[in-house]
Amino acid sequence: MPRALPVADGEPPSAMPGAPAVPGLTLPPPASPSLTPVPSPRQTVPRLVVSPRSDAFRRRFYPEATLRDWNDWRWQNRHRVRTLTDLERMLDLTPDERDAIQRHSGSLPVGITPYYASLLDPADPLQGLRRTVVPVGDEYLRGPGEADDPLGEDGTSPVPGLVHRYPDRVLLLVTNFCSVYCRYCTRARMVGAVGERSIRKHDLDAAIDYIERTPAIRDVLLSGGDPLSLDDERLEWIVGRLRRIPHVEFIRIGSKQPVVQPQRVTPALVRILKRYHPLWMSLHFTHPDEITPEVAESCGRLADAGIPLGSQTVLLKGVNDDVATMRRLVHGLLRIRVRPYYLYQCDPITGSAHFRTPVAKGVEIIRGLRGHTTGYAVPTFVIDAPDGGGKIPLSPDYLGGRDGDDLLLTNYAGGQYRYPDPGGDVSADLPASGPP
Ligand code: SF4
Repeated sequence: MPRALPVADGEPPSAMPGAPAVPGLTLPPPASPSLTPVPSPRQTVPRLVVSPRSDAFRRRFYPEATLRDWNDWRWQNRHRVRTLTDLERMLDLTPDERDAIQRHSGSLPVGITPYYASLLDPADPLQGLRRTVVPVGDEYLRGPGEADDPLGEDGTSPVPGLVHRYPDRVLLLVTNFCSVYCRYCTRARMVGAVGERSIRKHDLDAAIDYIERTPAIRDVLLSGGDPLSLDDERLEWIVGRLRRIPHVEFIRIGSKQPVVQPQRVTPALVRILKRYHPLWMSLHFTHPDEITPEVAESCGRLADAGIPLGSQTVLLKGVNDDVATMRRLVHGLLRIRVRPYYLYQCDPITGSAHFRTPVAKGVEIIRGLRGHTTGYAVPTFVIDAPDGGGKIPLSPDYLGGRDGDDLLLTNYAGGQYRYPDPGGDVSADLPASGPP
C-alpha cells in the first residue's frame, strides 16, 4: 500500500506570522538539560547582504517592502510568486508558459520566492533558472518509463513519512512544503499537495519511535519538501529528539532553502543547528547563476558553524548540461565552501522528459572535469536506480585492460600509461585485455 506523505488539514508549513498554531504539536522542552532551547528569534530580522540586482527588483515589484521585510524569510514566504497574475507582472510569459500555469492543479504548484524571482530573466524563457521554476506544456506529457514515484519510495515506507531502504539509514520526510518548487522534482507527487503542510505530529512521533526501536539506523536524513522551511522551534524539536537517540550517529539535512531563500539562514537558525553535531547538509544547487552574494553569505554562516556542506545537482537539459556551465557551478561552489557531491541523472518522473539528457551526457561532463580541475570540484555522477535500486555511480572508463602484469590506463588528457600490477587476480573486475 503506497504511503504518501500525510498532511494535517489546516497545518501550516512552518510558523509563518499570522499562521494558526499547529494542532497537536506542542513543542516540549528537550529532555536533556544540556539541550536548553535557544531564545525564539521570531521577531528579529538579521542584517543580510542584498545584491544590487535583488534590490532593484524589490524596489520595482515590491515598492512597499523595506530591506528589513526583504531580509525576513517569513516575508519572503508570504510574498511568494504563486499565480499567473504574479508571474505576468514580472516575466514576459510565452503562450506555452501561460497555458501550462493555467492548466495546473494538484501537487507541485508554482512557488517562487521574491528573492529567487529576482534572478529570473524576464525576457528569456530559455534561461536556465527560469526553466527550472516556470511550468511549460511538456510537464503534461508522460514519457516512456516515467512514473510518479520512480524510486519506489512509497513501497519502502514502514511508517508514514519515513523511507527505510538501506539497513543503516532512513529518510525522514518532515514537510511537503518548499518555498520554491522545482519543475523536475523527484517528489512532484507529494510536494505542495493538498495544501502545503508539515508532517502530522502523531506521524512524526511514530516515525521517530520507529527510529528509536531500530538500532541498525545510524544515519537520518531530513528531507521533504524542505526541512529548513520549518520554523526554528519545530526543527529543533525534531533534530533534538533524533540527537537523543544513542544509535543515531549522524544527522543530515537536505535543503534548497539556502539557495532559493538565503534569508532563512539566520544567525539564530545556525546557533540551533550547531548544537546538534555531527550534522551535515546537502544543498540543492542547479546553476552557477544561483551563486549570489546572498547565497555566499548563507552558506558562509553554515560553514562557519562547522556544518559540512555538499551540493546535489540534477543534470538538466538546456540548464546545466554542458561542461562550461558545470565548471562554473562547481568552481563557484568551492568558493562558497560547498563541496560538489552528487550529479544526478534526472529521475524518470512523470512529465520530465524535456529535462532529461542521455546518460552519456553526464559521463561526458565528468570527463570534462576530472583531471581538468580541482578534484574536490568533481561530483560523483549517479543514477538513482528505479524501484529502489539506490544510487549507482557512473564514471568515464580510464582502464584500458591488462597486458600481462601491467594495467593499461588512460589519463584525463588521453595519454596512455602502464601501471605494474603483478598478481592481477585482484583485477577480476577489470576488462580482460586490450587497450581501448
Ligand atoms: S526543493 Fe527539492 S523537494 Fe522542493 S521542489 Fe525542489 S527538488 Fe522538490
